[in-house]
Amino acid sequence: MSNSFDVIIIGEGIAGLTAAGALAKKGLKAATFEQQIFGGLVLNVNELDPAPPGGEAGGAAFAAEMTGVNAEAGVTSIQEPVTALAAGEDGYVVTTDGGSYRARQVIIASGARLKSLNVPGEAEFEGRGVSKCADCDGPMFQNETVAVIGGGDSALQEANVLTHYCARVLLIHRGTAFRAQQRFIDQVNGNDKIEKRFGTTVEAILGGQMVEKIRVKNAAGSEEIAVAGVFAYIGLEPNTAFVPDTIQRDGQGRIVTSDALETALPGVWAVGAVRSGCGGSLDDAIAEANRAADTVAAQLQ
Ligand code: NDP
Repeated sequence: MSNSFDVIIIGEGIAGLTAAGALAKKGLKAATFEQQIFGGLVLNVNELDPAPPGGEAGGAAFAAEMTGVNAEAGVTSIQEPVTALAAGEDGYVVTTDGGSYRARQVIIASGARLKSLNVPGEAEFEGRGVSKCADCDGPMFQNETVAVIGGGDSALQEANVLTHYCARVLLIHRGTAFRAQQRFIDQVNGNDKIEKRFGTTVEAILGGQMVEKIRVKNAAGSEEIAVAGVFAYIGLEPNTAFVPDTIQRDGQGRIVTSDALETALPGVWAVGAVRSGCGGSLDDAIAEANRAADTVAAQLQ
């Protein structure tokens, strides 16, 4: 396999897969890099809402479909974590723990991961009641009580998913009102398995072999509540460990780009959840990826 490409796309989430597919269809030699498994954030979503136009409604199936189309279009998929990105001769050098690769231009689509609560017990009970995937782990909590933490789209959507399995879902939010889409708020309000706790934070996750309870704090003081599972959906943090300091970040660590989606390094672009100002919906990520691919193709062809 050649180590030299027209464009390297870092990340095989929906944004990265979209950009790579668009570039390959325009005749450019494109490679995608992925450190885990293709799909990114949607991988754990059984029902994308809204469903992508013309695509599979399940996140994993949608990503798999795109990966197949990309392979047919000639995209090279490399399963190696990117550790560095630096300027090189006639473009950029992308370093992984498996080697070095050259590209004329680079699209960063490395996405974001779920933030941790960082409370005692969270790491200890990971996989023993603490989960980041309602669709995968929900069935393990049949007829149990679980806690979902957060007040955005993810928390509300996943709280609804968990009611398919659980007897009761405690939706714990530190604020006084949700900041999710109204349709998710309506679903939560109409679901009598969901019990809302506002102005409440989780102080600790407690148990023996498995999670048994959480200690929460609100204006009235601290309280222990029996739960079998804990799902924190408290926002995202960008995957940027490999990004050089010369590329500017915002206060949340996301990459700052021009309106044209170009970073401070000419010919290095950022799209999707890793980019400051990306809207957050799947449609936004796809639109950005297509826009960057069009610009890159126009420059390289
Ligand atoms: P958000 O950043 O939108 O929301 C995070 C929530 O967690 C907020 O309510 C925030 O509280 C709370 N929070 C943050 N930190 C803590 C903490 N340390 N302890 C307790 N609570 C905390 O993240 P989401 O993951 O919900 O969404 C990310 C993006 O993805 C958004 O753009 C969203 O719109 C999008 N999305 C879209 C979906 C769809 O269209 N179907 C589905 C899921 C996500 P506070 O409000 O007080 O800041």
